[in-house]
Amino acid sequence: TAVVELREVSRVYAGPPEVHALATSSVTIDEGDFVTIVGPSGSGKSTLLNILGLLDKPTAGTYTLRGQDVTLLSENDRARVRGTDIGFVFQSFHLLEQRTCLENVMLSDLYNGTSERESRSRASEALEAVGLGSFERRLPTELSGGQQQRVAIARALAANPAVLLCDEPTGNLDSVTANAILALFDELNDAGRTVVLITHDAEVARYGNRTLHMLDGTLGEKS
Ligand code: ADP
Ligand code: ADP
Repeated sequence: TAVVELREVSRVYAGPPEVHALATSSVTIDEGDFVTIVGPSGSGKSTLLNILGLLDKPTAGTYTLRGQDVTLLSENDRARVRGTDIGFVFQSFHLLEQRTCLENVMLSDLYNGTSERESRSRASEALEAVGLGSFERRLPTELSGGQQQRVAIARALAANPAVLLCDEPTGNLDSVTANAILALFDELNDAGRTVVLITHDAEVARYGNRTLHMLDGTLGEKS
C-alpha cells in the first residue's frame, strides 16, 4: 500500500527572484520501499524532503500520507503527524552532548505524551535495532561519528514512524563508515521499514530498491 502520494506537487519560493524549485507530476512511495532520490545541488532535493517531512507546504498539489490528505492541515496537526509518522535523519547528528545515548533517543518522545516508562522501553529497543544496545549510558562525545549517526537513527526510529526520511545521512562519514550506515538502512528496510534517502552522491544512491533522479525540480524514475 502507498505510504506517500504526491499529485502535481509544486513549490515556488516567492522571492524575488521567484524560484520554481519543485514540479512533480506523480510520486508514489509504497510501504517497504527503500527509495533513493539523487540529484545535483540546487535540483530541489531539500525542497522535496521538507514537503515530505511536513516542514514546508507545497504551493500547489496534494500530499497524501498514509491515506490522509495532509496538504491543508493546520500547523498543530502537521506537527502532530510529523511527530508520529516521520523519522528524520540528517547529515549532522544533532545529539545533545550532556545527555546519554538513551536520553537522546528518549527526547523524541518529549512532546507526544508518551509515558517515561514507555519512552525508555522504546528508546532501548531502538538502540538495540541500530546495534548500540550496550551504549545506553554512554555520552555521544565518547562515540565515533558512525556510532553517533546510529544514535540519531535510533532517535528517528523510536516513535515507529511510517517513513524514515534521510537527508545526506552519510555526508559527514568516511566511506567505510558510510557503507556500514547504508547497510543498516538496508537491514531496517528488510525488516519492513520504509526509507527515503536523499543524496547528491551517485554511489550512495545505488542503495535501496528504487532510484528517483532529480533535475531542475522534476523527478524521473530510472527503470
Ligand atoms: P518563501 O518566499 O517561500 O516564504 P523565503 O524567501 O521567505 O521563502 O525564505 C525562507 C528561508 O529560506 C529564509 O530563511 C531564507 O534565508 C532561506 N533562503 C532564501 N533563499 C534561499 C536559497 N536560494 N537557498 C536556500 N535557502 C534560501
Ligand atoms: P537541493 O537540496 O537539491 O540542493 P534545494 O531544494 O535546496 O535543492 O533548492 C532548489 C532551488 O530552490 C534552488 O534554486 C535554491 O536556490 C532554491 N531555494 C531553496 N530554498 C529556498 C528558499 N527558502 N527561498 C528561495 N529559494 C530557495
